[in-house]
Amino acid sequence: MGKPRCAVCSGIMHGVDHRMDTRSSRRPERPYGGCICHRCLDKGVREAVRRWALKVWSS
Ligand SMILES: [Zn+2]
Repeated sequence: MGKPRCAVCSGIMHGVDHRMDTRSSRRPERPYGGCICHRCLDKGVREAVRRWALKVWSS
């Protein structure tokens, strides 16, 4: 287990440590939490919401 790295930009995730991981271990609304940094995660969530919105609006 090395340092936690972002799966998108490969940057080291400074905001994640063992204490934070145990306290907020799981967040269901964020599927890639813990593997992607907040910046990339926010971008991914935005794209997912956009696709969902387009799907709903186009129906
Ligand atoms: Zn990233």
